[in-house]
Amino acid sequence: MAIERTLTIIKPDAMAAGHAGDIIRLFEANHFKIVAARLVHLTKKEAEGFYAVHVDKPFFDSLTAFMSSGPALVMVLEAENVIARLREVMGATDPAKAAPGTIRKLYGSSLERNCVHGSDALQTAAFEIGYFFPGVELI
Ligand code: ADP
Ligand code: MG
Repeated sequence: MAIERTLTIIKPDAMAAGHAGDIIRLFEANHFKIVAARLVHLTKKEAEGFYAVHVDKPFFDSLTAFMSSGPALVMVLEAENVIARLREVMGATDPAKAAPGTIRKLYGSSLERNCVHGSDALQTAAFEIGYFFPGVELI
């Protein structure tokens, strides 16, 4: 298994609810090393650029409005096989369907406001890390 990097975002709902520390604690409990971090308040356009892959989805406008509604904490995590492992620790996109103990089950409040983002593949991780940390060496 290779050492990978992935992009995670503690979304505005979790920041507003005061769950950033709880979520970071779960990253650390899983031995995901934080190698970069930025607190951002995205513009709608920046959120649209990040989620460009979803531009044709019916939830695109609402999602990008939500993602630009308040501060979010963006981080790069590093570990062996971290892309798949973070997705497991996050749980299913819909918190109602996420497994017990996963971050989205614990702290997500709806399908849209699901508290955390994680890259879904090597290529998307490279794009997403470059989007927020253009100076950081990519995978
Ligand atoms: P994931 O974040 O699990 O990779 P997707 O890439 O499919 O999920 O979707 C990106 C984000 O868009 C989700 O995390 C969630 O915030 C939102 N989202 C996805 N599907 C829906 C939906 N049907 N209705 C509202 N929001 C959605
Ligand atoms: Mg996704």
